[in-house]
Amino acid sequence: LVVLSNVNKHFGELHVLQNIDLTIARGEVVVVIGPSGGGKSTLCRAINRLETIDSGEIVIDGKPLPAEGRELAALRADVGMVFQSFNLFAHKSVLHNVTLGQVRVRKKEKKEAEERARSLLDRVGVASQAEKYPAQLSGGQQQRVAIARALAMDPKIMLFDEPTSALDPEMINEVLEVMRQLAHDGMTMVVVTHEMGFARSAANRVVFMADGRIVEETTPARFFSNPSSERAKDFLSKIL
Ligand code: ATP
Ligand code: MG
Repeated sequence: LVVLSNVNKHFGELHVLQNIDLTIARGEVVVVIGPSGGGKSTLCRAINRLETIDSGEIVIDGKPLPAEGRELAALRADVGMVFQSFNLFAHKSVLHNVTLGQVRVRKKEKKEAEERARSLLDRVGVASQAEKYPAQLSGGQQQRVAIARALAMDPKIMLFDEPTSALDPEMINEVLEVMRQLAHDGMTMVVVTHEMGFARSAANRVVFMADGRIVEETTPARFFSNPSSERAKDFLSKIL
């Protein structure tokens, strides 16, 4: 579904993505793990073109990433993204947050969009919060609304960049549970996370990234029990 071929990206002198080759199949859940500054967020942002790349190619569902305009907006709708920081529209209700894109980008009628929004809010367990504003919700609830908002666009793939790392511990699980369910329902997902329990239980594949490179790419079972690179061994010894 997503193919990155020989992707390179620099920030000035820093070679933040180095010859990245990565293929993500439909329905696959890929967890990206690695030390801070390794390029994980940049990789996610490149996939929905929040960052440009210097060379190489990114193809989504058979189409190269568009540079701008209408096609770029369509791509962004196909590639849902949930960030670490809660990025809901603060001055719009929860319901409005989840209907906005459906009406503007997917050109749905308001009534249809609202029905879909309520059903998605129910799916992520915040149906009763629909009329509230983001600031009136807990972090975990906001993050679940952000997931519902992305899902409302019927994305082909969902990117999660450390969706739980800004949450209080008791809220982490409620968000991970929604993500587990999504994975179980067959959504194609790329998840950057430090939640090793989630990686073990939900990932089809672990991609270990450090210093702008994919150092290792394997099953979670193998990654956690018997990583092949020294870099990964070192990383795991520090976090497990
Ligand atoms: P973390 O685990 O801390 O989130 P990461 O793996 O997501 O790290 P990135 O955010 O992709 O890492 O950053 C990779 C490198 O690129 C870092 O050294 C960072 O300082 C640098 N970087 C990221 N964004 C920019 C930018 N807009 N301009 C310049 N340098 C940047
Ligand atoms: Mg990051």
